[in-house]
Amino acid sequence: MKAIRFTFPVILLLLTLLWLLADSLLPDPFTYFSFRHVFVQYSGVIAMGAMSIAMLIALRPRWPELRLNGLDKMYRLHKWLGITALVVSILHWWFAKGTKWMVGWGWLEKPARGPRGEETLGLIEGLFRDQRGLAETIGEWTFYAAAILMIVALIKAVPYRLFAKTHKLMAVAYLLLAYHSLILVEFSYWTQPVGWVMAILLAGGSAAAVLILLGRSGHNRTVSGHIEQLHWYPELKVMETRIQLQPGWPGHKAGQFAFVTSDKREGAHPYTIASAWQAEDGHITFVTKALGDHTSRLPEYLQQGMEVSVEGPYGCFTFDDDCRQQIWVGAGIGITPFIARMKQLAAEPDGRTIHLFHPTGQYEQAAIDKLTADADAAGITLHVLASKDGRRLDGDLIRATVPGWQQASLWFCGPSAFGHALHKDFSAHGLASGRFHQELFEMR
Ligand SMILES: Cc1cc2nc3c(=O)[nH]c(=O)nc-3n(C[C@H](O)[C@H](O)[C@H](O)COP(=O)(O)OP(=O)(O)OC[C@H]3O[C@@H](n4cnc5c(N)ncnc54)[C@H](O)[C@@H]3O)c2cc1C
Repeated sequence: MKAIRFTFPVILLLLTLLWLLADSLLPDPFTYFSFRHVFVQYSGVIAMGAMSIAMLIALRPRWPELRLNGLDKMYRLHKWLGITALVVSILHWWFAKGTKWMVGWGWLEKPARGPRGEETLGLIEGLFRDQRGLAETIGEWTFYAAAILMIVALIKAVPYRLFAKTHKLMAVAYLLLAYHSLILVEFSYWTQPVGWVMAILLAGGSAAAVLILLGRSGHNRTVSGHIEQLHWYPELKVMETRIQLQPGWPGHKAGQFAFVTSDKREGAHPYTIASAWQAEDGHITFVTKALGDHTSRLPEYLQQGMEVSVEGPYGCFTFDDDCRQQIWVGAGIGITPFIARMKQLAAEPDGRTIHLFHPTGQYEQAAIDKLTADADAAGITLHVLASKDGRRLDGDLIRATVPGWQQASLWFCGPSAFGHALHKDFSAHGLASGRFHQELFEMR
């Protein structure tokens, strides 16, 4: 998370510094209305800057993914930028629109305007000036719609499918707000760095919005395939799906994930790839747990021979570090990235000492036997902690079990709250923060 915790404030700081090169939040004379004028401009730049970058992230570009430590983290940055745009645009709206209401309610007195001299505007400035009224109206109503869509996105109780469908409408809202910004940004900014950067962000964000509306995000990284084998583990409510891919898959590193579409109406769902890549083989395997409405329908819905599409690979949870010892924690269905890595190590050992802890609420012998076989083949020490035996995993147990844990790195996949607690506990016991790696199984 370190990369996005650094990038997020840097984005806002850069936009602020660029804006301060062109304007100031301390206009002279400093009155409510002079401050309102500059604050509406500043908040507009911050909100649209944040939304534009969030829109570009929604295209799932690969370049930033490597630097931000994985798409799961990028989507977290997307969310933070979305929340920032929501909060700042509420302030923007209130200073722009609320002020007019306050004047109407008699709370504020509009300053008297002196006689205006004849203004000679350039062609473009004249055109923009003529559209101010339209741009303000479009901005106001789109703000209401966008605010509702963003709040819906933040309410976890809203089913993902409904969220996904409504969230796409954000791209339409973005295009309308881009027009609003183009027309209403202080005209003098366009000849200054803040204007150049906003022009690039608005153009990039608009292109991304159009591509998203056309369903093109990740399009050039999608390969089709068909289901070759299905294995249902009833105790675990887990489906193991082996897919034969068509040519075109670039290969993947163990620990990466992909977006799988088996039902176009449902759309793509992210699953970790639970197999190591062998180009000559062309197979890929996913292990999916019934965690919600779509995944619960998979046992009835998926059929051998069925066409599916796979987009990816994504993610940086790929076990790359310089530690000779690694501690792995795969809690529940969070075991999937470790399955892939064990299969890879069985073929290409890396000489590391590895302990894998698998705490699980459900227990199925057939699945544990498979996991044990994978661990043996990879030369890994497996610790299964089934809650049916009253065994729970915590930092103390790991430290008591793994000699020299201080020199190890820890790779965690599972419920994020458990991950955060384990991270905090190990940091408190001196594990360097950079040694704790967590895959986020949530994108919302
Ligand atoms: C990087 C990553 C890797 C994952 N790997 C696996 C895996 O190997 N095996 C596995 O069983 N599960 C995995 N998941 C979780 C899996 O994506 C969700 O459980 C699944 O999408 C739930 O869909 P649903 O309709 O059944 O559930 P819902 O009831 O709709 O949602 C349940 C939860 O899943 C999330 N979710 C639902 N649909 C999507 C979607 N299209 N995109 C993103 N999140 C969604 C929702 O936010 C919610 O938190 C992974 C998730 C991520 C982000």
